[in-house]
Amino acid sequence: AALNTDVIPVPSRRSATPHTGEVVLQVNDERKSFGTTEVLKGVDLKVHKGEVVAVIGPSGSGKTTMIRTLNAMESIDSGQVLYRGQPVGYKTTSSGEYKTVSDKELARTRERIGMVFQQFNLFPHMTVLENITFAPKYQGKQTSDAMKKNALDQLRKVGMESHKDKYPHQLSGGQQQRVAIARALAVSPDVMLFDEPTSALDPELVDEVLQVMSELAAEGLTMVVVTHEMRFAREVADWVVFMDKGVVVEEGPATQVFDNPKHERTKRFLTRVM
Ligand code: ADP
Repeated sequence: AALNTDVIPVPSRRSATPHTGEVVLQVNDERKSFGTTEVLKGVDLKVHKGEVVAVIGPSGSGKTTMIRTLNAMESIDSGQVLYRGQPVGYKTTSSGEYKTVSDKELARTRERIGMVFQQFNLFPHMTVLENITFAPKYQGKQTSDAMKKNALDQLRKVGMESHKDKYPHQLSGGQQQRVAIARALAVSPDVMLFDEPTSALDPELVDEVLQVMSELAAEGLTMVVVTHEMRFAREVADWVVFMDKGVVVEEGPATQVFDNPKHERTKRFLTRVM
């Protein structure tokens, strides 16, 4: 399918009462240091079913570190990350000990949380189609015909079906990222994490990826997106979280944070980037 990259549609599903309902991910007083530098200084966050949460803020404010803790790709020193009430990565045992969850528990949770990276991270030695069927094959829940059909459905969704037999190096960055999105979707995740998905792309390739993400948002996929694309955050996100220096300074509906920011730091940042 041809992608219309001229315009990012405003999802019509935007709720009158955003940031309510079923909580999919929750972060409580999360702290994390690298060496002696504390980069997350007590972060709280909630992600509700069906909403798009955009995380914005200056470079070095802890956005990438934070999103990577949501599926325990990054460890935390204290606090909690919960997926549907279950601890992700770390839990406090009945004896009060703070420790990692079992590999089995972690694997089960990660199956439900898809991730898209800045650098695409496709398997270079596999075709597009093989990249997409890799995780479903590993899970072993579907017949190989069903897996292939599902993979082609996902590729169609991101406008990449005709490239199914190519290898990643034969694709542009924007095309690779769309395949990476299809790959993450192939296991039907409950929530998708996007860590600066367009920041490694040449400017002319950014919109084709944002377009795909806008369509997923309009379909009601629950998404957390760390992004520098303020237009995307403003037009597509239901809820915007502004981080600076390891804390959430301000959060609210996109219209409120962008049109009427409460904090001086938010205002200063928006003035600089808009
Ligand atoms: P952002 O995504 O907002 O740009 P990051 O989460 O990438 O912020 O980084 C927050 C801070 O943590 C930065 O000062 C960065 O240099 C530091 N940092 C990130 N990852 C590491 C790491 N693996 N080791 C040491 N410091 C790190």
